[in-house]
Amino acid sequence: MQPGDAVLYAVLADIHGNLQALSAVLDDVERTGADKVLCVGDIVGYGAHPKQCLDAMRELSSVTVAGNHDWGAVDKVDIDYFNADARDSIEWTREQLGPDERQYLQGLNLVETLGDLALVHSSFFAPEYFDYIQTVYDVQLNFRHLQMPVGFVGHSHVPAMFATDRPSECFLQEELQLSDGTRAIINVGSVGQPRDLDPRASYALYDVEAHKVTMRRVEYDVQAAFQEILNAGLPTTNAHRLLIGR
Ligand code: ZN
Repeated sequence: MQPGDAVLYAVLADIHGNLQALSAVLDDVERTGADKVLCVGDIVGYGAHPKQCLDAMRELSSVTVAGNHDWGAVDKVDIDYFNADARDSIEWTREQLGPDERQYLQGLNLVETLGDLALVHSSFFAPEYFDYIQTVYDVQLNFRHLQMPVGFVGHSHVPAMFATDRPSECFLQEELQLSDGTRAIINVGSVGQPRDLDPRASYALYDVEAHKVTMRRVEYDVQAAFQEILNAGLPTTNAHRLLIGR
């Protein structure tokens, strides 16, 4: 099978070293029968299991792009711009990674395409700036720079869908059926640190033939992830925000 031939893609983002969340999501992905797993960045940062999450995604993900934390962990972005907790977490994460993991993160690209899909962590307008797609203006700008029918992003940790046929709307529902000729930008939310006040892990499915996106939310052992962040000596905020999804 060629990479572009998969019928059902599972797209994950912002795993952030949360192995409990990632394991639950991968179980859910298996239940859906998805053909391929894709990742739009930030496998590491914040959580207690960066290495294990990298191992799992290197094995399972067909295509992965770099997030700012992934590149921060290998000094490819300047972490002086990160907030104090994110910076402390990256410094801790660096100590957990061996040469093999570092080389893998170094080699990730900012943008990848696969069949009809384009993948980027932050924005299609200027991937290297790690901006957010938040305003109607951001959405329009990104549609101008998205060359493919469907673009997947992460970064904000808040799931959201945008489509060219209703350009000023943000779709937050579980399913989005795209009409013919409509292009879409899909923020898949975060596996390991959701910030939309729903603590469940988030990811998206994309059915190529049906041209349909489905957002999935998955319960996981938040308490275990919480405790392991504290045990690791990571910033306590990293743990507490998991409880409320913020
Ligand atoms: Zn992130």
